[in-house]
Amino acid sequence: MLKKVQHWLENLFETANGPSRRPILSKNLESNIPGLFIVGDLAGAPVIKLAMEQGYNVIEYIAGLPKPKGATGDVLDVLVIGAGAAGLNAALAAKEKGMSVLVLEKEKIANTIENFPEGKWVYAEPDTVPPKGKLWLDGAQKEDLINRWHQIVEENHLPVHTDEPALIIEKENEIFHITTPKGTYQSCRVILATGQRGNPRKLGVPGEEREFVYHRLYSPRKYKNEQILVVGGGNSAVEAALTLSEQNKVVLSYRGSEFRRIFKDNERQLNRAIAAGRIEVVFHSTVKEFGDRRAILTIDRGGHREEREVPADHAFVLIGAELPVKFLKSIGIKLENEWEGSFPRAVGLALLTLFGLWFAGGQTGFVPEMMKNIAAWAGAVLALASVGTLILYGRKGDRWAWLGISFLIWYSVYGAKVGSGREFWPFTNWGYHALSFADRPWSFWYTVIYTALMTIFGIQALKRWGLERKDRFQVWRYVSLLSFQWIFFFIIPEFLFQWAVKYQWIGELAKDPVFADQAWRSYGIVYAWPLFFYTFFYNPHQIWIVWGVLLSFVIIPIFVLFNGKRYCSWICGCGGLAETFGDRWRHFAPKGNAAIKWEAMGTYVLIAATVITGLMLAKDIWGLFTGAASLSVRWYSIISDVWLVGIIPVTLYPFLGGKVWCRYWCPLAKMMQFISKAYTKLGISRFHIHANDKCIACNECSRNCQVGIDVMAYALKQDVLDNETSSCIGCGICVTVCPMDVLSFSPGKQEKGRLKMKD
Ligand SMILES: Cc1cc2nc3c(=O)[nH]c(=O)nc-3n(C[C@H](O)[C@H](O)[C@H](O)COP(=O)(O)OP(=O)(O)OC[C@H]3O[C@@H](n4cnc5c(N)ncnc54)[C@H](O)[C@@H]3O)c2cc1C
Ligand code: SF4
Ligand code: SF4
Repeated sequence: MLKKVQHWLENLFETANGPSRRPILSKNLESNIPGLFIVGDLAGAPVIKLAMEQGYNVIEYIAGLPKPKGATGDVLDVLVIGAGAAGLNAALAAKEKGMSVLVLEKEKIANTIENFPEGKWVYAEPDTVPPKGKLWLDGAQKEDLINRWHQIVEENHLPVHTDEPALIIEKENEIFHITTPKGTYQSCRVILATGQRGNPRKLGVPGEEREFVYHRLYSPRKYKNEQILVVGGGNSAVEAALTLSEQNKVVLSYRGSEFRRIFKDNERQLNRAIAAGRIEVVFHSTVKEFGDRRAILTIDRGGHREEREVPADHAFVLIGAELPVKFLKSIGIKLENEWEGSFPRAVGLALLTLFGLWFAGGQTGFVPEMMKNIAAWAGAVLALASVGTLILYGRKGDRWAWLGISFLIWYSVYGAKVGSGREFWPFTNWGYHALSFADRPWSFWYTVIYTALMTIFGIQALKRWGLERKDRFQVWRYVSLLSFQWIFFFIIPEFLFQWAVKYQWIGELAKDPVFADQAWRSYGIVYAWPLFFYTFFYNPHQIWIVWGVLLSFVIIPIFVLFNGKRYCSWICGCGGLAETFGDRWRHFAPKGNAAIKWEAMGTYVLIAATVITGLMLAKDIWGLFTGAASLSVRWYSIISDVWLVGIIPVTLYPFLGGKVWCRYWCPLAKMMQFISKAYTKLGISRFHIHANDKCIACNECSRNCQVGIDVMAYALKQDVLDNETSSCIGCGICVTVCPMDVLSFSPGKQEKGRLKMKD
């Protein structure tokens, strides 16, 4: 049973970043294997200039390292694998520093760029970063760029062994042994610069190894008057189908129902080719197997499946490239978001910890009085030992152990915070007090910790997105989030309100117990209903009712008109913790259609919040539905205010990113979504993201979107991204990370959209 749950959860967690998984690297780009560095595309550099920069920087770092002990004369200083932008620039920098260096290249120099379409213009973005190192880069046609690179390789006498792939990398006595089909080399350090594009994804169906099935298309014009099958739904498949269809009959098989991730121009050309009968597209189809010059397709016709045989002199499977996981694993490189370890063991150890805490809390009625002290100590030891074991497993790479630890932390924090006497087991009757000190309740210390976490991690995020990238939009966003947290969610409710009452700064109001005794309501100055669920009941002062109506039904809708759901990424404390503490895990946000469908859950929470508020108003005003109102509000506050906003999402920060509550359950986010969608449909919304035609499909925008939007699909088609088709919260991270300046909040103003700061 637990194994089944483990399997289900692993699939869920891996929806996050499957397509954009990367190796785990230190800030110096060193992998978990000391001395083995990874640069370029494989390390997340999305464009040539940034790949070159990484190649250069890594040599600067390696040059400062001492030589390993076993390094004799014939051991190279550095061996570079991959002669792309990153590898060549690293090798040139190493040569310049007088290091002995060799480059191994699987095919040709600059193989990825060689494979670009003829005459393709290669952009030299981002403009703000000057190219580093000896390799030349400027906007140029691919042929000119490659010629220049060959010239540089020759002029610098750079040893590049082409057609020699690295097959095995082993480390012995601090020296790497690299085996190729032609021999074995030894090196003190290895730089892996193999990119991701050279590892085509396979279908994994019978017959895929047959001679007429290819995973690349080199010379499309050599095929004439033949029957050709192309499989795939991205730009390479569509471009291949288009070129091949000029002289052949082409069937294009795609598992989806529309081509979402292709360039606008490709879409136009494809529609023309279909209309002219040059290409037949078979949607909802997958290859079952390849036979003798034919393929069997399985076609899904709305739940009913049928098979079709397609004759094929040649079949091109062009379904993208993927991380060479097998190769990386064979070397021993650790990848991000790998679910190793045991779920049942983590559950067992977490339960033991809670049992230990139960005894430590001394609330165990069945233990004889004289044994209570011993039981408490034994409990504390059990809790420490269990959590210690979890940490040990976690350090060995057991991700389930970290999930267990994260759960224990946040379950304890929120389980004790529900109030004295109402704490969750095992904290009942002692947790709240144990965590309250210096004359302040646990809820106060919780706010202190919350604000501290936001501040520490907020400053890091501000540096990462704002200062280091010279992006004024992000600087202001983080300043805004931190200011709202400090002023409206900490200083006012925890100090200023009480001082205003105590020192009577607010005149007669200070003497009105209905107003003065409800300091917690001052959170409602910025938190709007239905996120601040209690705005209209539990005996609010009229001031709060008037402000609540104004905020939720006038100010928020006006704000949404101009800013969409930016409240979530500029103002709100819940979103604030996600954008600061949760920022380092933003790329783990669940992606794909299923993840988007789950967003419907927010509608149910919004309906529940509305109905229960109605019941409570009926109870308070007319004395109706008293039982139902009290019961439902109690359940809502436990489910929503404790589990959905606290324990579950914060536990999941390191595994699904920070936006689980905001994206799936927050009723205010859902309300703003509906309002923004309505404005967009009416054509009056002022909130959109636009794209120009420079997208290179690097996926950085989609990878970093904390609400899992496939921004790249919009960018490729130059479609407008708004709240009619997405739950975008306007954080602008996609705009900031795009290395090609494709995206902007205002059409045609990509540069201004980023609001770059002057150097
Ligand atoms: C369609 C398209 C358009 C693009 N347009 C632009 C653009 O206009 N401007 C821009 O800046 N960027 C563009 N890019 C991105 C750019 O191509 C990459 O950022 C860049 O190539 C990454 O460089 P790299 O050195 O990390 O990897 P790559 O250039 O991919 O080089 C990796 C090299 O390693 C070799 N290799 C792989 N495995 C092995 C092995 N086992 N042993 C030995 N060698 C191996 C490969 O053959 C390859 O030569 C585009 C990408 C695509 C797909
Ligand atoms: S689409 Fe862009 S602006 Fe919108 S939420 Fe995602 S990253 Fe933020
Ligand atoms: S829009 Fe997205 S996929 Fe396209 S270049 Fe920019 S970051 Fe890469």
